[in-house]
Amino acid sequence: MPVVRLHRTVLLVTAGGGRDDPGWHAPEPMTGGGSVVSVVAGVDVGGTNIAVGLVDEDHGVLAEQQVRTPTDGPEAVVAAITDALDDLGGDPEAVGIGAPGPVNHGVLQSAPNLAGFTSPVALADLVAGATGLPVVLGNDASLGVVGEWVAGAARGYRFVLGIWAGTGVGGGLVLDGVPYHGASGGAGEFGHLVIREGGALCGCGRRGCVEAYAGRASLEHAVAIEVEAGRPTRLFEIMQEEGKDRLTAGVWKKALRAQDPMATRLIDDAVEALGIGLGTATNLLDLDCVVIGGGLAEKLGQELADAILAAARPWMLVPDADLRVVVAELGDHAGIVGAATEARALIRQGADPKSGE
Ligand SMILES: [Zn+2]
Repeated sequence: MPVVRLHRTVLLVTAGGGRDDPGWHAPEPMTGGGSVVSVVAGVDVGGTNIAVGLVDEDHGVLAEQQVRTPTDGPEAVVAAITDALDDLGGDPEAVGIGAPGPVNHGVLQSAPNLAGFTSPVALADLVAGATGLPVVLGNDASLGVVGEWVAGAARGYRFVLGIWAGTGVGGGLVLDGVPYHGASGGAGEFGHLVIREGGALCGCGRRGCVEAYAGRASLEHAVAIEVEAGRPTRLFEIMQEEGKDRLTAGVWKKALRAQDPMATRLIDDAVEALGIGLGTATNLLDLDCVVIGGGLAEKLGQELADAILAAARPWMLVPDADLRVVVAELGDHAGIVGAATEARALIRQGADPKSGE
């Protein structure tokens, strides 16, 4: 198993005592004797890679590996997940899977980023059948928030919104100490809150969504339009200096530091959109923590989180509410840890092996 990376302590929580969140995700040890560590598997299915990890009771990732996401449809993806689990070994008791699309009762409804997923796929059933293990399926963004909530930046809070600003803008919720997926698994789509009627065109085909201003694809589209209109920017010069072939979060950061006017204006617009969305979400849900992840959040850090909170305040009915906006801590591990947490909840509930979120 040469591709398996072992690291026992990466995610083990070191802050003493901070575990004051509810017991929903803090299961009793599965073995009475205590010598055998109970392990579950977390799987994060992305458009490019599938990450698979073994996770212990303290949310530590014991071993993990990544494989390329097959492009020839659901059966190949199930085989890739099963093979990766086999390679890792470790006898997981259950499997949690995060997939890039809306999930309802173990069925991935649609997944534009997965080739060959042209109709709903009962991914939980298929993986359960192939592995003989209980499997729970959820939306990747939702499970990433669960990961940050049990072991990352949102630890200890009860009303959490996660915002993932990457190519698009995803999101997820924990409400009153329980992951919240909605009536049919579609909750948490922060990126498609409409903040400007008739505004910029969004990847979803509608106008004025948060994602239409704050998603990387939308930002790149906006740059292309501005450049075509003859406005100057150093963005592409910086991209070349950095040896990148697209406008990465690092390129945006350098352009902001260089006070590039176009980059500054577009990121200001993105922060404004995120802030209006956040203010609106807070009025509806009365949150106590917002965790922001994705490339730009990782590069700009707390500075970005603070700017988004400042942009949200004018839209909040209780502008001085004690709302924390923090940057995600777990990086790529958030999805694995969140999926594993749901898997552990599944075996605790003794639910049937195919049930999903
Ligand atoms: Zn949209």
